[in-house]
Amino acid sequence: MSQPGIPASGGAPTGLQAQNGAASASGSLYSNGPVQNALVSSQVSVNQGYNSQLPGSYPHLIPAKTLNPVSGQSNYGGSQTVSPLSNYQGPGQTLHRPPVASNPVTPSLHSAPVPRMPLPTSHNPAATPMPSGSFLPGANVHPPLNWQYNYSSTGSQTNHCPPASSQPTISGNTNLTSHQYVSSGDPSFQNNFIKSGIASNTNNGSMVVHNSYDEIEGGGFLATPQHTNKNPTMSRSVGYSYPSLPPGYQNTGPPSTTGMPPSSLNYSSGPQGFTQTPLGANHLAASMSGLSLHPEGLRVINLLQERNMLPATPLRPPVPNLHEDIQKLNCNPELFRCTLTSIPQTQALLNKAKLPLGLLLHPFKDLVQLPVVTSSTIVRCRSCRTYINPFVSFLDQRRWKCNLCYRVNDVPEEFMYNPLTRVYGEPHRRPEVQNATIEFMAPSEYMLRPPQPPVYLFVFDVSHNAVETGYLNSVCQSLLDNLDLLPGNTRTKIGFITFDSTIHFYSLQEGLSQPQMLIVSDIEDVFIPMPENLLVNLNESKELVQDLLKTLPQMFTKTLETQSALGPALQAAFKLMSPTGGRMSVFQTQLPTLGVGALRPREEPNQRSSAKEIHLTPSTDFYKKLALDCSGQQVAVDLFLLSGQYSDLASLGCISRYSAGSVYYYPSYHHQQNPVQVQKLQKELQRYLTRKIGFEAVMRIRCTKGLSIHTFHGNFFVRSTDLLSLPNVNPDAGYAVQMSVEESLTDTQLVSFQSALLYTSSKGERRIRVHTLCLPVVSTLNEVFLGADVQAISGLLANMAVDRSVTASLSDARDALVNAVIDSLSAYRSSVLSNQQPGLMVPFSLRLFPLFVLALLKQKSFQTGTNARLDERIFAMCQVKNQPLVYLMLTTHPSLYRVDNLSDEGALNINDRTIPQPPILQLSVEKLSRDGAFLMDAGSVLMLWVGKNCGQNFLSQVLGVQNYALIPQIMTDLPELDTPESARIIAFISWLREQRPFFPILYVIRDESPMKANFLQNMVEDRTESALSYYEFLLHIQQQVNK
Ligand SMILES: [Zn+2]
Repeated sequence: MSQPGIPASGGAPTGLQAQNGAASASGSLYSNGPVQNALVSSQVSVNQGYNSQLPGSYPHLIPAKTLNPVSGQSNYGGSQTVSPLSNYQGPGQTLHRPPVASNPVTPSLHSAPVPRMPLPTSHNPAATPMPSGSFLPGANVHPPLNWQYNYSSTGSQTNHCPPASSQPTISGNTNLTSHQYVSSGDPSFQNNFIKSGIASNTNNGSMVVHNSYDEIEGGGFLATPQHTNKNPTMSRSVGYSYPSLPPGYQNTGPPSTTGMPPSSLNYSSGPQGFTQTPLGANHLAASMSGLSLHPEGLRVINLLQERNMLPATPLRPPVPNLHEDIQKLNCNPELFRCTLTSIPQTQALLNKAKLPLGLLLHPFKDLVQLPVVTSSTIVRCRSCRTYINPFVSFLDQRRWKCNLCYRVNDVPEEFMYNPLTRVYGEPHRRPEVQNATIEFMAPSEYMLRPPQPPVYLFVFDVSHNAVETGYLNSVCQSLLDNLDLLPGNTRTKIGFITFDSTIHFYSLQEGLSQPQMLIVSDIEDVFIPMPENLLVNLNESKELVQDLLKTLPQMFTKTLETQSALGPALQAAFKLMSPTGGRMSVFQTQLPTLGVGALRPREEPNQRSSAKEIHLTPSTDFYKKLALDCSGQQVAVDLFLLSGQYSDLASLGCISRYSAGSVYYYPSYHHQQNPVQVQKLQKELQRYLTRKIGFEAVMRIRCTKGLSIHTFHGNFFVRSTDLLSLPNVNPDAGYAVQMSVEESLTDTQLVSFQSALLYTSSKGERRIRVHTLCLPVVSTLNEVFLGADVQAISGLLANMAVDRSVTASLSDARDALVNAVIDSLSAYRSSVLSNQQPGLMVPFSLRLFPLFVLALLKQKSFQTGTNARLDERIFAMCQVKNQPLVYLMLTTHPSLYRVDNLSDEGALNINDRTIPQPPILQLSVEKLSRDGAFLMDAGSVLMLWVGKNCGQNFLSQVLGVQNYALIPQIMTDLPELDTPESARIIAFISWLREQRPFFPILYVIRDESPMKANFLQNMVEDRTESALSYYEFLLHIQQQVNK
């Protein structure tokens, strides 16, 4: 057994180097220098999450409890982390805010480019040693004691903070504050704009909002109401005054607000009507005994003998080992899943398993069916604010016990009536207790200001380079086509800004005969001309908007302006949106060159293949800081990067990451030279513009007492301890969190996790979407392994590896991935298997673990030895962080199908369409044959490789050509032919595309096509010049495990 924090090889270079010595000449997969895992120590400041200078020093990819989640240098790496905070612990305690402006800086009128920031990291007082990762044995998870704060004196988030004593009260640990971002004192940030931007914001109401969400969503503050310092200008009775029991609860009769007809009073509430409870925890516990997994799940597999473990149908998530009565109520794994479907009872047991514990969420996914509850009474636990859910227990008809903190709560009178069955006295049959996923229409207590209108601001690069790409045509046309489909209502507002070396605004005031362009050339101190006419009501100014969209593409065709003042344009856009919040969509085609946020090229093509010295960290914290300001004002920034050249996505991406936006990337976009990208952009814009959107959102994830969430992955800002700030939330975003077992769960048989997302819909409704997942607690290592969810584990490890790449190095991250497999399989071998058989023995649940980790090593984010461009790698990393698990797995381990012989056998029938379901093949050239055609679905790209001897039938009936030589060199579409073969494959491809929010480009690849290399690169099981084959990888793992 290896030591905690030390790889199985005892701190030496994990053995990989040795084995790969021979391969190193050709850029070995493991050509990194010695791994410094031996250095691991909880005292090493590995944990800061942003220190790119640290030695590679952890075996498990955990940047640990990073309490400094948003320091200047961390990009999408360095996930946002909080200390364990048990938010169910009774009365809250007041947070003490540190002195503001401990980091005085002088404002400077920035000049481009912004110098690269010194790394704040280990010199940062906030970066005191922190405990190491949660699932490392012996890692104590304490909050740092001397956590300090650095506030930028002009940071808008601090500006609109109420005085320190008015910090929201939260329960539990008091060592944290609600504002965690640390300024590194970058002078470039201290510009006039920020000050004036804030000063000009007269909307005090919106300023108050930001410190009160915590109270609204609820961190147990009710126990200690402390309202004295609330902003006196607030007129609404909101947030802090959320009554501990809504008035209706005290009513003896059924409140009228339920809409309950008086006749329902006739229903007796007598005990005979109380037929509960199949749901009580005690009951559950009793009914759990005697359960067992499917026999297949109990198999132990020797991977060296049974090589084909990949199922022919899509891999399904494991079903938690729960009684079927509970499981049938459980949350859909597409929305909410856990890396371990059997939760280890203690941290010690979790440490032994060497598997990461965490959740993967897709909380705002489009749903076909979503129960929506409209009731004035949202029943929540008085202690921990958990929403009542299917896994609470009813002690009797009048009391329910919280499944997260175990407090016994009263059942409010109103809840006694079931609006669905119209029966009184059935609280356990209410929709809230029958659905693990549910949405509430939130009453006014959940608002801090009137719900904001939908606001959409578009910011377009119109420099020479941008005009050259021709993207404006596509985007404007797309907007014209979808203008009426933008989610919204009569309050929807829209606006446009364009920029090159200057910034252009467009007055769209109702009544104008045509849009009016206003040019602001002072990019040092941007001001907003006529702010009231720039963001206009879409309905009232629709014709002007349409006029503008029709003329915009022509307006700059003659431009010679090559400069790009992106930073000042973003500042202007932020200023314009601050009073309301909303969505900012930014289109950029090059490296910003002017004003704040200007960047320098720093990609060195000849170092692309090296795992070292690549620039994964942002070169300035301008974008991050601006993003935090945006977050504070409920503005999310989505970045569309359409660039053939290096544009420093590592820096630019921060604008989206911390404001809860999304990044889209179209390398080498050109309207003529790259028509596939044009098609992709159009399709994706269609989705982007019309998909559901939530505004001014916050999300909190709660878990049963004893468990603790400590690191968050995704695009957002951790506002207070565990409250995620999401100025926008979209249905295509995924999130992940890491957890630890803080207190023994020995007295518990079930644990629950609940996410609550409070948002404003595009119709101006305040809504709360709640998902609750229930899982069993187990006491043996074998049970932990049996319940492992290998996809969720791989997804969480990928997130951790992105952080690791940024905070340490790519090679470190890669080693850590490998060690994750070695350590867990070693633990299984030494602690679970009784007889030490030869081979590589794995539990059935982890049979694909080595394969998926190998696939991650070959994934664009983490691969070495290729020509991956830096921005492409960064984009892949952004995707890892922001994509729901299902898409991440597809980009990591693509699905391969043989498609020249599609049949209707086993086909799906959806709306009269027949969709073939060919078996999934292993990713190895062994599975290919020259007489066939094979489709690889790699998530964002589909590749159809046609073998040289492919049958004439396929060529003519599907591709529409008479012979192989006639297949076009570039073919990105299949003709719709009137043949069953054509119909089948087109149905299949369309169906694959419909499954996802982005548009996968299709490439038809001939044998001699240059694209063939891309196709082969995804053959995860094969050896490449820089990467091991699956079999070699297994041998390596075995060697390490059997040490
Ligand atoms: Zn509770």
